[in-house]
Amino acid sequence: MFDNLSDKLDKAFHILKGHGKITEVNVAETLKEVRRALLDADVNFKIAKDFTNTVKEKALGQDVLTTLQPGQLLVKLVKDELTALMGGDVAGINLSGNPTVILMSGLQGSGKTTFSGKLANYLLTKKNKKPLLVACDIYRPAAIQQLYVVGDSIGVEVYSEPENKNPVEIAQNAIKHAKAKGFDVVIVDTAGRLAVDTEMMNEISRVHKAIQPQETLFVVDAMTGQDAVNTAKAFNDILNFDGVILTKLDGDTRGGAALSIKTVVNKPIKFVGTGEKMEAIDVFYPIRMAERILG
Ligand code: GDP
Repeated sequence: MFDNLSDKLDKAFHILKGHGKITEVNVAETLKEVRRALLDADVNFKIAKDFTNTVKEKALGQDVLTTLQPGQLLVKLVKDELTALMGGDVAGINLSGNPTVILMSGLQGSGKTTFSGKLANYLLTKKNKKPLLVACDIYRPAAIQQLYVVGDSIGVEVYSEPENKNPVEIAQNAIKHAKAKGFDVVIVDTAGRLAVDTEMMNEISRVHKAIQPQETLFVVDAMTGQDAVNTAKAFNDILNFDGVILTKLDGDTRGGAALSIKTVVNKPIKFVGTGEKMEAIDVFYPIRMAERILG
């Protein structure tokens, strides 16, 4: 994960090896390389620029820390800023509803259905909840079928109304069903499109307004870099969602989405998907990710 970025940052820090004291010149040189590494990882230009400027200001103001090697100091500052860039603290999930309603949004292929299953499995096995999965994709029968396969594999019930072409009604009926049958979390999987379009946005917006979820999660494929960030912005403008789910972090991702999304939409990354299996879900810890990036 993010191997290329890690390698490049490591090389950048090598510039400081052997210097006894941080000077403006060698800090500038190192940070230029850090910035280049971030840009290569597909981090947005302004974010990369602000990032290195912040680290630079902090580095030059830290004469106090003479006990640390300059290289180590800079690594620490970069780690702190990477952590901040990814949201700082770990963001929890709000399970206060009765039942808690979680709406999944995102483009087709982003990993919504897979993640709906992973989240249901996580809540079932780790949080002692009784989740219900809801198929609200009225366009692709295969999507409904896929949710049944997922539900079966983890032993979670799936609610669907294959004949009903109104996703708002399906979601509302599912919540009634959940209340009647004692489910405490309702995970609503919605229809995605290959790209952002008005019809999809109107539809999810209607579902969102009607069911007033405790958590609206935006699912995005981490491999799509800056596109992921643009899509996040489009969905956030409509839904004002609560958190981001970054999927496919097990793939050959460069890191741009993970590092840019918080700044652009000001919403935390809550979970990551790290594989196709139902267990491949992790709570997102910004500090651990920063440590991992720095090796
Ligand atoms: P949806 O259209 O948004 O519901 O997306 P799907 O859940 O159908 O996922 C699209 C494809 O991505 C499927 O082949 C999934 O198995 C795969 N996928 C989903 N999440 C992950 C992940 O975290 N890692 C990997 N490697 N593949 C994933």
